[in-house]
Amino acid sequence: MTPRVDEHWVTDGCWLGCGRTGVPVIWLGPLQWEGQHALVYSCSPYLDRLKVQAFAYFMERRPAAV
Ligand SMILES: [Zn+2]
Repeated sequence: MTPRVDEHWVTDGCWLGCGRTGVPVIWLGPLQWEGQHALVYSCSPYLDRLKVQAFAYFMERRPAAV
């Protein structure tokens, strides 16, 4: 049930906490806020953090779905 991330890396700015630009980033998905939307990109270290947090979230919502 793990959604596949489309592994398509581009060189751009990271939208998450590190604030770096010109680094390999991957598209996470559309951010929707106040009726607008933007495309959010994440660098590799922050993607790893998100994966850990997302996995914990999935496990919390659907425990032992093996
Ligand atoms: Zn980053």
